[in-house]
Amino acid sequence: MKALLETKDVCYAYPNGPDALRGVSVHITRGSKTAFVGPNGAGKSTLLLTLNGTIRPDSGEVRFDGRPLAYDGRSLRELRRRVGFVFQNPDIQIIAPTVEQDVAFGPANLNLPPEAVKRAVRDVLGYVGLLGYEKRPPHHLSSGEKKRVAIAGILAMEPDVLVFDEPTSSLDPASSEEIMELLDELASSGRTVVISTHDVELAYRWADSVVLMAGGTVLARGAPEDVFSDHRLLKAARLKPPWVLDLYNELALRSVIKRGVPPKSVLEFTDLLERNVHGHVPQEELGRVYLCDADAVSGDEIRALLDGGSVAHVGAMGTRAKEFANRERILLDFTYGVIDKCILKALIGENSLIITTGGMVEHVHRRISEYSAESGRALAPIPITRQERRRIGGEVEG
Ligand code: ADP
Ligand code: MG
Repeated sequence: MKALLETKDVCYAYPNGPDALRGVSVHITRGSKTAFVGPNGAGKSTLLLTLNGTIRPDSGEVRFDGRPLAYDGRSLRELRRRVGFVFQNPDIQIIAPTVEQDVAFGPANLNLPPEAVKRAVRDVLGYVGLLGYEKRPPHHLSSGEKKRVAIAGILAMEPDVLVFDEPTSSLDPASSEEIMELLDELASSGRTVVISTHDVELAYRWADSVVLMAGGTVLARGAPEDVFSDHRLLKAARLKPPWVLDLYNELALRSVIKRGVPPKSVLEFTDLLERNVHGHVPQEELGRVYLCDADAVSGDEIRALLDGGSVAHVGAMGTRAKEFANRERILLDFTYGVIDKCILKALIGENSLIITTGGMVEHVHRRISEYSAESGRALAPIPITRQERRRIGGEVEG
């Protein structure tokens, strides 16, 4: 496939510093999720900064959309609008005294009319789940919230590519998962997403293409399951393999399981084990996965459903759905990895409910039908509409 971003033999040394990049050639295809993975000092941040022209290579070339970058002010401004960069440390990126002003900074500089700027700010704050934060001073927010302000500021310029340098560093596990879900949402809306990370587990689950870096060079690139199965390479990069893949490879080497598509999650791994142990997929009665769009139902309706007792677990996906649950005092069992967790519950016969919003509703349908096709189990989410709720309510009462 044609590369949207590409580097050819890029070399760079910091003034009075080390050779940070020693002949790096990579390409990033449109719509892909690419992770640059490597230990500290590998050159990941430096390479990412060449992609939006912040760092100009000493030799070699960076191409965007087929054309070599030009480094005059006008070309760089246009490039940075199309290739958005989210810094590792949001404090560097956030400059204005309020969230609203900060997010408006980019679109205002594009000379959009004030009404359009206002609309853009409202849209992206909704998208990252920060409506209501408009007047807050960004420097008093939590790390996860600051990160989302920085992301909103970049999204407001509607870039084609989003580059995140270590998107989850300094975040707690739940905030990390939320940011990664946001990145998934961006990718599923057609944007090209690039991250750097030293977190092999995260890259393995998230990326469809990984570039392994160490010492300013590329050690390997390809599908995560291929790159991360090579222990020699990982050792050279001072990294450990993802545990799911490691266990899978060990069991396959000992002929405990047959090789197939390597699993990426607990769900995929348990399915694989079941198939290998039983020789087929058990067809016990599955629990149900209910799905509701928080924009289309009320808190009362959800609470009535939960009070009916037919739902054992509730999960919310996306910041807007989580806010909805918070506001409506709906206790959540799952706040990340929600789809997989609900499928796992369905496999042991328990019912669950996924609350989400917007394009994520479609995403849940897609993910569960993919799972159903791959696993051979008949599972489909049941949308909660008002009628459906009455039916389930009736079932339970009657
Ligand atoms: P990574 O992001 O993979 O940790 P970096 O791109 O930050 O790696 O760093 C690559 C190399 O360049 C390291 O040896 C680092 O010490 C050096 N380096 C990074 N930033 C600077 C800088 N601003 N000045 C001098 N050296 C730097
Ligand atoms: Mg870095």
